[in-house]
Amino acid sequence: MPRVLPRFDVLAAARFAPPTDANGKRKRIDLEKIFGENVFTLHEMKSRLPKPQYKALLSTIQNGTDLDPNVADSVAIAMKEWALEKGATHFTHWFQPLTGSTAEKHDSFLKPTGDGRAIAEFSGKELVQGEPDASSFPSGGLRATFEARGYTAWDPTSPAFLMEGPGGAYLCIPTAFASWAGDSLDAKTPLLRSMHAVDKQARRALALFGSEPKAVRATCGPEQEYFLIDEEFFYRRPDLITSGRTLFGTKPPKGQEMEDHYFGSIPARVLEYMNEVETELYRLGVPATTRHNEVAPAQYEMAPIYEDANQAADHQQLMMSTMRSVARKYGLVCLLHEKPFQGINGSGKHLNWSMGTADQNLLEPGDTPHQNMQFLFFCSAVLKAVARHQDLLRASVAHAGNDHRLGANEAPPAIISAFMGEQLQDVFNQIEKAGEAKTSKQGGLMGLGVNVLPTLPKHAGDRNRTSPFAFTGNKFEFRALGGGQSISFPATVLNTIVAESIDELCTKLDGALKKKGAKFDVELRKLLAKEIHEFKHIMFNGDNYTAEWVKEAKKRGLLNLKSTMEALPKLVDKKNLALFKKYGVMSHREVESRFEICLDQYFKTVNIEGETGQHMAQTMYLPAAQRYLSDLLATAEAAEDVGVKTKGVVTTAKRVNDLIDQLVEKIDALAKRNQELGGDDVHSKAEHMHKHIVPALKDVRDVVDRLERIVPDDYWPVPTYRDMLFVK
Ligand code: ADP
Ligand code: MG
Repeated sequence: MPRVLPRFDVLAAARFAPPTDANGKRKRIDLEKIFGENVFTLHEMKSRLPKPQYKALLSTIQNGTDLDPNVADSVAIAMKEWALEKGATHFTHWFQPLTGSTAEKHDSFLKPTGDGRAIAEFSGKELVQGEPDASSFPSGGLRATFEARGYTAWDPTSPAFLMEGPGGAYLCIPTAFASWAGDSLDAKTPLLRSMHAVDKQARRALALFGSEPKAVRATCGPEQEYFLIDEEFFYRRPDLITSGRTLFGTKPPKGQEMEDHYFGSIPARVLEYMNEVETELYRLGVPATTRHNEVAPAQYEMAPIYEDANQAADHQQLMMSTMRSVARKYGLVCLLHEKPFQGINGSGKHLNWSMGTADQNLLEPGDTPHQNMQFLFFCSAVLKAVARHQDLLRASVAHAGNDHRLGANEAPPAIISAFMGEQLQDVFNQIEKAGEAKTSKQGGLMGLGVNVLPTLPKHAGDRNRTSPFAFTGNKFEFRALGGGQSISFPATVLNTIVAESIDELCTKLDGALKKKGAKFDVELRKLLAKEIHEFKHIMFNGDNYTAEWVKEAKKRGLLNLKSTMEALPKLVDKKNLALFKKYGVMSHREVESRFEICLDQYFKTVNIEGETGQHMAQTMYLPAAQRYLSDLLATAEAAEDVGVKTKGVVTTAKRVNDLIDQLVEKIDALAKRNQELGGDDVHSKAEHMHKHIVPALKDVRDVVDRLERIVPDDYWPVPTYRDMLFVK
């Protein structure tokens, strides 16, 4: 007898009751009190450190001055006391290896005193440097296997924080991670270096504009999209468990067509979840502010207030890990994969990016003409950078998961272009033209004489949701990041390419101003006109999803790097190696190692998907189809015995049988490809995945998805999209 599977308990999942306290009441949250309570803030340091020590530390944090070892000792003592008061037992150097997530190894504060007792101790040396075994972290050839050592170095610009669980608490110290030879093995180091590059060049530009040169910080505010599904479903799907996405599944009868989910009222369980995530984040000093339903069913979004790029990157990691861990309390699983469900919108991360001093956002159009010119200068620098380094921006978001979004009929396309809105576009067009017309019509055209340049409206133009890189009023929004991605590398790329542009614009302007009788306004306008002429092909205000744009972009000479395997190799182009080196962001070795690591991750990700797909098809879907066929045949046979005609049953049996034939064939083809692996080096392995595994897996999927539409629901071995996406 065929075994009929029990149906998944959709009802139990739907009836989940969120936890409340003993009286069934919700806790009252005192926002101001809890914000940052688990962070060793500047405020905390000020109250615990001797004044001179605090001042020295502040100067390190704000101006990048070298840290005196004595100050480190004082900070360590203060930090330890604070942590112990909060019940911490351990400390860890918290870092971001090139796996895209975070790593930590805990050490106890306890030091035996030799007489059977122990005291809690923490020295400046322990604060400043750690030596985790680096051998299990990817190094892309930077670290020979015999030198397993790596070291972590304290990043005083990102505050230490306390992680708490029911079992205890530990102190996390944000650190950079490098090989023993000093090559960076992490996401933080290049980011910090790139922030330094932006600071240096933007200060130079500010000085040219006659502003008081102040520290300039790159700022980031990442918007995070994600799915929440009931764990009842998650743990019944091997693909979700191993790959974070479904490798099979047909579109549900109701998808996002009704558009009734976006900004809709948030389901109760999800709201409870969001509240708790936010509370946890507030306690860690992460300024999570907005939340709403996203377009797809079971999809949501959360965004923090922007911070300097380094802190934003650390906080974004905390945000992702908090979102994942809190979900479990609510019987949910948080999916950060870029494309968990085929045919349903995927999850991206929008990296809002700008640069500014403590009191001025350099991409704020501002209210006065003079500021407008400065704004147009910085804005041009960004556009120039994007035009020149489309390849790098594209490569910075290239990974297996994002291949299902970029260039695959979904926001945004793989072609990098920039949206400026019509009004700004118009201003740029006019400056460009006037540059050519030079003397004649100046006064007559809008905004050409600096003095008559109009105040730019803050929201200079409409919104465009289809652009991968959009100006949104006072910042750019890089929309091509994957949902589960760290923002560090894309931010590093943005910082570096913009630093280079500012550098070049400053040098040109400087040169022009040396001419006798040169006037700042005139030279600046001339320079911008020329520059705009060179980068204008990167500006596009239309619909990025259309086939016409693909054609038009090609005419304009824009790149269209459709897959990870086309985009990644751009990292090690001569142009890009030289760029990173020139601005002290990454050495050739460091870039090359990153390239290797990205390839390796691509290979491993697709390899796991290929193996999982083969396994599921062979051991779950095929048997389900066979059971159904067996039942149909038994029915037909029994009917014949009693003389009942079974035309429909026989037709169905034939259909199922045909699909089973196809499935076996496709599984065999995939299995063969899985076995091959494609060669010894990581390049050819990754290439094999791209060329052979991805299409072979798709072939298997096509048949399985067709079977899903014909095999009875109670035979189907895994929860369907229909189950997973609508229980909230
Ligand atoms: P909108 O997308 O409607 O303009 P917001 O102004 O709330 O919405 O911004 C969206 C995201 O952009 C938020 O995460 C916000 O913190 C971030 N953001 C705003 N200003 C800046 C800035 N100067 N630099 C970086 N990110 C910013
Ligand atoms: Mg947005």
